[in-house]
Amino acid sequence: MRVDGRGAGGWDELLAAESNLVAPGVEWRTELYRIAVAQFIRAADILGLEQEVRERLLEPRRSLVVNFPVRRDDGRVESFTGYRVQHTLTMGPMKGGMRYGPDVSLGECAALAMWMTLKCALLGLPFGGAKGGVRCDPTSLSEGELERLTRRYASELFPIIGPDRDIAAPDMATGEREMAWFMDTYSQQVGHAVPEIVTGKPPVLGGTEGRDVATGLGVVFCLEDALRGRGEQVDGLRVAIQGLGNVGAVIARELADRGAVVVAVSDVTCGVVDDNGLPIPDVLEWIAEHQFLRGFRGAREVDRQAVVETPCDVLIPAALERQITDANAARLDCRLVVEAANGPTTPEADRILAERGIDVIPDVLANAGGVTVSYFEWVQDQQKYSWQGEEIVARLRLQLSDAFARVHAARERHGTDWRNAAQAEAITRVADASRLRTIYP
Ligand code: NAD
Repeated sequence: MRVDGRGAGGWDELLAAESNLVAPGVEWRTELYRIAVAQFIRAADILGLEQEVRERLLEPRRSLVVNFPVRRDDGRVESFTGYRVQHTLTMGPMKGGMRYGPDVSLGECAALAMWMTLKCALLGLPFGGAKGGVRCDPTSLSEGELERLTRRYASELFPIIGPDRDIAAPDMATGEREMAWFMDTYSQQVGHAVPEIVTGKPPVLGGTEGRDVATGLGVVFCLEDALRGRGEQVDGLRVAIQGLGNVGAVIARELADRGAVVVAVSDVTCGVVDDNGLPIPDVLEWIAEHQFLRGFRGAREVDRQAVVETPCDVLIPAALERQITDANAARLDCRLVVEAANGPTTPEADRILAERGIDVIPDVLANAGGVTVSYFEWVQDQQKYSWQGEEIVARLRLQLSDAFARVHAARERHGTDWRNAAQAEAITRVADASRLRTIYP
């Protein structure tokens, strides 16, 4: 399908400006997918990637949409829509998180699945990318309702998942609890325990040491590598963090422990700032007790969006996608952005930040610690053998530093920015595999 200038909303114009190659299927045409495609095409262009491979990688290989009923606590039955998108089957089993949220859509999952493919390729993991989720407001569901929703969603995905086909993991609004329900549902169906159907599960069910902190720790490792290249260190660094969930809370704690001055944090309810550094243990304790940041009295409360523009050395978006856009990129007051969230920066904002000399360490590198330790978990489950926590952290460090060094080299080689270099490095690996496997039949 060629870009032909049709369509409104700037989609075709942007793609045409990026390249005159392909436009993806209308089914997953959303703003987030536009971003994923625009980033991909930029990297494909510097590689001179042939059209045939581009077309194969620009469209997800398999997408499943399910509508299913869940009984609410008051006896009513409500229908929910769930998705699972598998981006490529070329690299091995598919691997990717599952999220719950009101905006979850096919296009969002397609974009996130493509980034998962690139992330796994960049880290040298034997997986293709997948992503899934259920459109719902998880905060309005009781624990029992969430369990029924998770179990039904898992059984709806049965035709396309399996420990050697597609392995789920936590993402926004899901964690160890949901992974345990998912694993149990799958295991009940096949008649024996299959821990390797999900990663990020509780250690007692075959989860690994360190998975709960892996994504956040990986972000910190990448930041340390980036700082080393600039002759800087974490101690004394002024940091602002958007989002304090699975990922952001670990980053805040790890950076504060390493001597960083965390000047601003936010969650969905508000932001808090303190120029002298926030008391991170108190902030996290408040959230653990009250679920949200609002009401925390140990610092000045601000609008949640203000945190992104707070003066600092390093801004870490760790909440959700499309937070740094052409509307606020000119007002960012930092020297470096490290993307803990997936897709937090739009291509338009990337251009503005590049003009302003603000480097962006991209999501596919910075938050790859999660899937890397998920891979370790899957390997341990397959081997029926557990590694020690220190070994896992040491392996994670090695694997991320190796990827960081390769992206650094690609950046020099291609004379480009960090995102483009990381994507080019990843696409090269997937494209090589696609060419070698050729096309069946
Ligand atoms: P989570 O649901 O645990 O936490 C999200 C946090 O963001 C919460 O604190 C929430 O209140 C906050 N938030 C939501 N909307 C906000 C807004 N508009 N402004 C400020 N804060 C807001 O999710 P998570 O698992 O920590 O994931 C965060 C990001 O990291 C997502 O982009 C996810 O895809 C990505 N990621 C997660 C993992 C993982 O292992 N969980 C791995 C790789 C990437």
